[in-house]
Amino acid sequence: MNLLIMGPPGAGKGTQAEVLVKELNITHISTGDMFRNAIKEGTEMGKKAKEYMDKGALVPDEVVIGMVGERLSQPDAKAGFLLDGFPRTVEQARALDATLDSLAIKLDGVVNIVVPLEKLMARLTGRRVCKGCGASYHVIFNPPQTEGKCNSCQGELYQRTDDNEESVGTRLRAYEEKTQPLIDYYKEKGLLLDINGDQEIKLVLEDIISALKKPVK
Ligand SMILES: [Zn+2]
Repeated sequence: MNLLIMGPPGAGKGTQAEVLVKELNITHISTGDMFRNAIKEGTEMGKKAKEYMDKGALVPDEVVIGMVGERLSQPDAKAGFLLDGFPRTVEQARALDATLDSLAIKLDGVVNIVVPLEKLMARLTGRRVCKGCGASYHVIFNPPQTEGKCNSCQGELYQRTDDNEESVGTRLRAYEEKTQPLIDYYKEKGLLLDINGDQEIKLVLEDIISALKKPVK
């Protein structure tokens, strides 16, 4: 099974990806790990990427897609993979299609984790950090024993500015604007699987598995 996974910040995509690759016994390819490994192993594309990164420049699409191609050619990807964090734009999706074609790999589905905006806001604005020791809490998922106080050092908890409603709202809108064309692209290809991410991790997994068994629309 060859899959992509996408989802907005706060949708639990990372957690879901880990659970899904275990269940399907496929290889998790996250772009972050892929970058680090390609550079560490000094692959052709890894070397190119490093040149750009050393200059503080953005790594261009053709290098990133080159790295994806190198990674998908490795033996562990042959048994199936879940690509996570790529593509992010329609241009990248087209380049990925060409790479997959050249490797004779067929994509089986694109898992799109969907969570209502207000739930994402609640998840992403709930983080609190201790001024004393830097410990991290969440008002819903991991609340401190005493409101506003750190469990271990009694320090004051505060909300980082990038966790406030305005910053989070900007981040979520930017994601939506950038991703909608990509969603449309895979929908047209009949590959998109919209999955309700507003439920327990186990239930999200069950929904993904049953969606993968259905013939794509
Ligand atoms: Zn503390």
